[in-house]
Amino acid sequence: MGGETTDKIVRQSSIPRYSAGPVGQQIHSIYKGRLGQFTSGGQYQAQNLPGYMYEGRATGEDHVKLSVYSPPDLSRPLFEEATSHKFEKTQVGAWFGPSWSTHWLKVELRVPSDLQNKEHLELHWDAGNEGLIWTTDGEPIQGLTGGDRIEWVIPKTFRDGNFHTIYIEMACNAMFGNPTGGDIIQPPDMNRYFQLHTADIVAVNLEARALRIDFWIIGGTRPHGIRFKAFANTFDIDAAREFSDNDWQSHEALQIENAIMDEFIAGKGSKEAIVRCREIARKYCGNVDTADIYNNGKDFIVYAVGNCHIDTCWLWPWAETKRKVARSWSNQCDLIDRYPEHRFVASQAQQFKWLEQIYPKLFDRVKTKVKQGTFQPIGGSWVEHDTNMPSGESLVRQFLYGQRFFESHFGERSRTFWLPDTFGYSSQLPQLCRLAGMSRFFTQKLSWNNINNFPHTTFNWVSLDGSQVICHMAPSNTYTADAHFGDVKRSVTQHKSMDQDATSLLMFGKGDGGGGPTWEQIEKLRRCRGISDNKGLLPRAKMGVSVEDFFDQLEKKVVEGTKLVTWYGELYFELHRGTYTTQANNKWNNRKSEVMLHDVEYLATLATLKDRSYRYPKKDIDDMWENVLLCQFHDCLPGSCIEMCYDDSDELYKKVFETGDKCIEDALKTLGFSRNELSKGSLTAINTTAWQRNELVKLPKTIASQSSEYALVKGDPGLASVEIMTNSNANAKSAVSIKEIKKGVFQMTNNQYKIEVEGGSITSLIDLAEQREIVPKGVKANQLVVFDDKPLYWQAWDVEVYHLNSRQELPGGTTEISEQGPHRVSLVTETKISEESWIKTTISLAASVEDQPSYIEMYSEVEWHEKWTFLKVEFPVDIVNTEASYETQYGIIRRPTHYNTSWDMAKFEVCCHKWADLSENGYGVSILNDSKYGFATCGNMMRLSLLRSPKAPDAHADMGRHHIRYAILPHAGALDSRTVRTAYNFNHPLKILSSPSASIPSTTADLLSCITLGGSKALILDCIKRGEDDEDVSRGELAKRKGRSIIVRIYESLGGRARGTLKCTLGAKKVWKCNLLEDDLEEVRIEEGEVKVELRAFEVQTFRLQL
Ligand SMILES: [Zn+2]
Repeated sequence: MGGETTDKIVRQSSIPRYSAGPVGQQIHSIYKGRLGQFTSGGQYQAQNLPGYMYEGRATGEDHVKLSVYSPPDLSRPLFEEATSHKFEKTQVGAWFGPSWSTHWLKVELRVPSDLQNKEHLELHWDAGNEGLIWTTDGEPIQGLTGGDRIEWVIPKTFRDGNFHTIYIEMACNAMFGNPTGGDIIQPPDMNRYFQLHTADIVAVNLEARALRIDFWIIGGTRPHGIRFKAFANTFDIDAAREFSDNDWQSHEALQIENAIMDEFIAGKGSKEAIVRCREIARKYCGNVDTADIYNNGKDFIVYAVGNCHIDTCWLWPWAETKRKVARSWSNQCDLIDRYPEHRFVASQAQQFKWLEQIYPKLFDRVKTKVKQGTFQPIGGSWVEHDTNMPSGESLVRQFLYGQRFFESHFGERSRTFWLPDTFGYSSQLPQLCRLAGMSRFFTQKLSWNNINNFPHTTFNWVSLDGSQVICHMAPSNTYTADAHFGDVKRSVTQHKSMDQDATSLLMFGKGDGGGGPTWEQIEKLRRCRGISDNKGLLPRAKMGVSVEDFFDQLEKKVVEGTKLVTWYGELYFELHRGTYTTQANNKWNNRKSEVMLHDVEYLATLATLKDRSYRYPKKDIDDMWENVLLCQFHDCLPGSCIEMCYDDSDELYKKVFETGDKCIEDALKTLGFSRNELSKGSLTAINTTAWQRNELVKLPKTIASQSSEYALVKGDPGLASVEIMTNSNANAKSAVSIKEIKKGVFQMTNNQYKIEVEGGSITSLIDLAEQREIVPKGVKANQLVVFDDKPLYWQAWDVEVYHLNSRQELPGGTTEISEQGPHRVSLVTETKISEESWIKTTISLAASVEDQPSYIEMYSEVEWHEKWTFLKVEFPVDIVNTEASYETQYGIIRRPTHYNTSWDMAKFEVCCHKWADLSENGYGVSILNDSKYGFATCGNMMRLSLLRSPKAPDAHADMGRHHIRYAILPHAGALDSRTVRTAYNFNHPLKILSSPSASIPSTTADLLSCITLGGSKALILDCIKRGEDDEDVSRGELAKRKGRSIIVRIYESLGGRARGTLKCTLGAKKVWKCNLLEDDLEEVRIEEGEVKVELRAFEVQTFRLQL
């Protein structure tokens, strides 16, 4: 400034003064595109990493000698049997089949001298199908899946120049069965053959393999050979660059990747160059060669836990599932040995039971790992069941049998109910979970909703009675995550509850067809963690933690004050709405076996009290329940399995009905009754429901005559009287009549209704006492309609909203009077559906009996051979309400009758149990059924879904003959116990018996009514059984309990506080309120054999009466 000439400081820059030459801005698209070359196939494969993965390979019969035994008739013999047969020489290139056949391969391995000193040897085995490796001692050690999991690590002991033998049990199906044309839901190709194309001893360059995964995760590119997920809606095709270009982390990753490639090229892919490449990778993702990566104590929010969803039956039968369990779980035991951070959860007590029975050595191996805490049983239920359709008692038994299995085999019950894949969740599950020792619930299925996006990830889910569980839905929206970078990232980007808590579960592993995590997935997660620690941005994931750890910290937060958002009522699944109807026969079997088991347990309990020499048939009861519970698996009962599975379930149900029948017969005999030798002089009946009944019952053929076809059965719970009704003792006041009032128009009347029927449809239904027409003018009730039923993809699963556009009425054929007695009248109408299909519907009206509600009953016989057609029956009713009511387990669920919002509209088809109801102030109409679950109420139109006809995955689903009963029950006043009890009665028909002794002793009569429930009519006594652990009942799986006890389960059915009296005339010493698992919770006071009960709205209570 002033021009002073003081000493100058000369700053020398270290930057060269002259440019060394031009440097260009990197063109990202090209440098990113280049990355694909490094790990993929194609024209430079040999020069890139794939060309350096293996250091040697031996094949051919000098090294891999093969022989085979192919069991006949698609049988699946076990090791001992199979290996006792003669094995025939075979070779690589041979074909094995047909679909579902089994081939036992004897594999003799001799490691050539040039491979004996290599670091790591594997057998690579790929026949495109599934396999299980066995030792010569008959121990199953690892599963194989063609294409996905083809490596087995060859033990060091094999490197002695001699032949060593293993066996491979080859199953001719892929992970997803044998779908025709590769579309997984198409019915199986029954004649598929698989070629054994690889059976090699391979020396693996472990550093090259590790570099491949480094490169994959840093670059976010998908290396060659990695398969897409099976399902279109979980596609993740674009894995390139999950970080955005706005993040510096993305730019650095690109530079690291290119540097790795440059180093590899410079070193010509040598071992040393590969080591140097990995050093470069470490700058980005740290040292990932050990599980220590997880042990730096840093906070993490993603709990990564392995699992493999094994559908208990689906695109394969149970027999194959048993092997899938062995294949999958042996893999996981092996991985747990190799990766100390690996934790694996497995659900479904049934699968553990199969493992114990068929693969005891493997079961022991699993058990050891359960003790160590690395293999973690979870779920608390017998199978991962459907929750829409099983009865309340079935849901209880899923937990009772599940938890008892886990407790008796592993010393612990599950605290988490685990249903990742089930199609919607009943509103009473939180209550039942809490009563079965579980306060946590995991799923993700609602991410498949096809209309509305479910708004929460972690929340409190609240039952009809107010009980709650913490529910978590994995934000990665899958239970079969590939453990890729994107899955970890989505654990935050798709997390909807971060205001309360940012933690989440990442459930990874191959699934649906089993399998579980692969070593590759575990390696990938190490790298993801390294990137989170070193570069940030990616949420920090941790392995070595459990699902219970995740929920423990959540529960702790809640206890400390975090308020999770709440969701009241059902978790309705906005997809798979066809599963309430598909495979009608299977659903019929489910309902009938539930009803039968109610009677078996009730009668057997009484029989044990009558006669000490009678043994409670606990094994039979367990077998029946376990089979019924198995058939409630979330593809079986919903109807989404292949045909083979329904052949299996038909057989199982047949066994259940045979066993149940015998149990009932034995118990009745002990009680002094018979069902088979009926004689007119000694007719009686047992009312197994808990309230007074008074009904006309059709006499069994052996004792019916023209003049007496019906009996009036009348009685309180227990013994009921049977009065044979003859034409002459018809009560004029309650008589029923029928006449043709003009051609083709019939009128039926009893003292409650006047009905007009034309062409099989009800054109008028008048409630005489109320002077009220129920069918609106110009429309018809009991109208059969068909809809075109072609969902977007999932045929057996889905019915789409647009099916409603194609409604077509089926015109009724001629109607005839088929019954015209004083006690009951009937009309039968045949309706043609097509050239092949027809329906014969009988509409009946019985004389009304005293104060009992009278209903109009329909019985349909259907011959069904349609394609993509949905059959329903309609009941337009003159009732106004924006909500309809449906029976659900232990309660009522209300759903909209309108389409105001997309949430309302999404429920265009819903699940109901024994009844649905539309009521307004003062009047209502209930529709009862004996085996149906699908229903819809739109405005004043009530529709019961009868039959569907999807062609995949079962090409013959629902084809053939069906028998369906349903009824219209109009009622003055609100929806109340009349509907609940009449529907219960409709499903539990009274049966006429004989008492061989001349008169029934009063002790028997007293015994039959020894347990009763009085008080509010909203209370339902739903189950009477013996205590699981009573010393005369127990099968010893858990500690026995002294003495004899009776379990009584009651619930409040209408949605309000209810009081009542549980009366026991047996002199119970003590009465305990207990949970579903029959743990005593609190002793309750008995006064003169009576216990006062009080229940909240829709509450379930269980009592144990200690005799
Ligand atoms: Zn599933």
